[in-house]
Amino acid sequence: MLKGLMQDRPLLISSLIEHAARLHPRREIVSRTSEGPIHRCTYADIDRRTRQLASALTALGVTPGQRVATLAWNGYRHMELYYGVSGMGAVLHTINPRLFPEQIEYIVNHAEDCLLFFDLGFVGLVESLAGKIPGVRACVVMTDRAHMPECSLPGLLCYEDLIGGRSDAYDWPVLDENVASSLCYTSGTTGNPKGVLYSHRSSVLHSWAACAVDGLAIGAAETVLLVVPMFHVNAWGMPYAGAMSGARLVLPGPALDGASIYGLMRDEQVTLALGVPTVWLMLLQHVDTARLKPRDELCLRRVVIGGSSAPRTMSERFATDFSAFVVHAWGMTEMSPLGTVCNLLPRHAGLTLEERLAIQEKQGRAVYGVEMKLVDDAGVRLPCDGETAGHLLVRGPWVTRGYYRDAGAGLLDPDGFFDTGDVATIDADGYMRITDRSKDVIKSGGEWISSIALENAAVAHPAVAEAAVIGAAHDKWQERPLLIVVRKPGGELTRELMLEFLQGRVASWWIPDDVVFVDQLPHTATGKLHKLKLREMFKDYRLPAA
Ligand code: ADP
Repeated sequence: MLKGLMQDRPLLISSLIEHAARLHPRREIVSRTSEGPIHRCTYADIDRRTRQLASALTALGVTPGQRVATLAWNGYRHMELYYGVSGMGAVLHTINPRLFPEQIEYIVNHAEDCLLFFDLGFVGLVESLAGKIPGVRACVVMTDRAHMPECSLPGLLCYEDLIGGRSDAYDWPVLDENVASSLCYTSGTTGNPKGVLYSHRSSVLHSWAACAVDGLAIGAAETVLLVVPMFHVNAWGMPYAGAMSGARLVLPGPALDGASIYGLMRDEQVTLALGVPTVWLMLLQHVDTARLKPRDELCLRRVVIGGSSAPRTMSERFATDFSAFVVHAWGMTEMSPLGTVCNLLPRHAGLTLEERLAIQEKQGRAVYGVEMKLVDDAGVRLPCDGETAGHLLVRGPWVTRGYYRDAGAGLLDPDGFFDTGDVATIDADGYMRITDRSKDVIKSGGEWISSIALENAAVAHPAVAEAAVIGAAHDKWQERPLLIVVRKPGGELTRELMLEFLQGRVASWWIPDDVVFVDQLPHTATGKLHKLKLREMFKDYRLPAA
């Protein structure tokens, strides 16, 4: 073989912040802090402080490969940890603070974290872990001396003291691009959480895909609001994509309510925002109750929605009330997370809003780097005809090949594909549509009913705030759909009206056998409907006809 003669430069996370500091030194990172005020700094500041942090970590005895944990909201110090920890060769382990304390304890011990950095708001949580996480040598509060909390934790360190006075003359080590850079645990709605270990190479490649025009099109002109937390799959890679592109970043801290998010969008002239459907639900409710005119006040052009399916009504409201285009995206922790993005093709120019919304309901097309296939229960490939639903498998350089410290081999199929646990269709244009989690599909008389399609049809009703569909036991059909609905405040809706509304919107044999109204639905730590808990809640429920 004749080898190419191009330079073999490793793809390193440190190179992203170096690039941003060189090319976009004055571009801003705006953070709402846990202490309260809005904080402004630049990529040049982050670069400098990141080097100080790396010096400090070295002084604390952190060595390459060791895990450094964070329990923190989106903010500039968290961003510094993204670059400081990974840049020096250690592994940034971002923990979801919404997990149960026992899960956090399990995760910290499983990851063998040596340091724990945390936001002011999590003092109580960390106190409750004291004595249970023996591997953690020191805890660092991500604040300055003036805001250090009174608390019982021994030897607590202060972030600003730690990095203040340190030299910023730190040179980033030239690492092997395949070494681990960060670690993120899946939320473990079933069984123990599993660790997904990203590498420098996978993170940089993923970032390129995110920046690409037919990816999420992150560029220097954007002001990007990261509503998606930095503890949820690296905030979908945005801290890296931001530095790669020089985008201005807005980090909302702990305030994720509708009013706070709206305020940031307006005051910081946000052009692109990313988050899961539940946060957008809160934003839209705020717009309604406060009777706001987002079209006139905001310059939001695009909203990236992923993590759960973006209902058509949500895309429609962003289009009509905000003049913003919803970019539906799909992925998972095991995929860094980006898999598909729902952008339009040239031949879609001139579509009516209705026609466009029908496309935007789909999760989109695979970005370059991600290969997808559909298979049946026996692993046989299924056609991409937009009709046939099958298990969705993926492979690519930012897809996991195993879980951290997991003995179980054989995660991938013989061709190297990873089973996402999702059920989907793919059409001739490559647009993928998630119809369910394989655990959640409703198996009615040997056929599959998509709970997601039913939920999306139900939330199109103006009186429905949120809806969930689970399978309930049925004598004849094994399972039939049960629709569980949260009404909007003041919304009037009966079982009969709801069922009538669904007629003609879904196949007639999909129409749920019953509708139950509840005050709220359970959610997982990442804001998804908690189907497992719902099934538990309704385990004694009997369908009227069963
Ligand atoms: P968790 O930690 O809760 O598992 P992930 O982000 O890894 O969080 O969850 C990934 C799963 O979320 C996917 O396998 C899929 O089921 C669901 N998901 C993600 N994006 C979408 C989407 N756009 N539409 C429907 N489901 C989605």
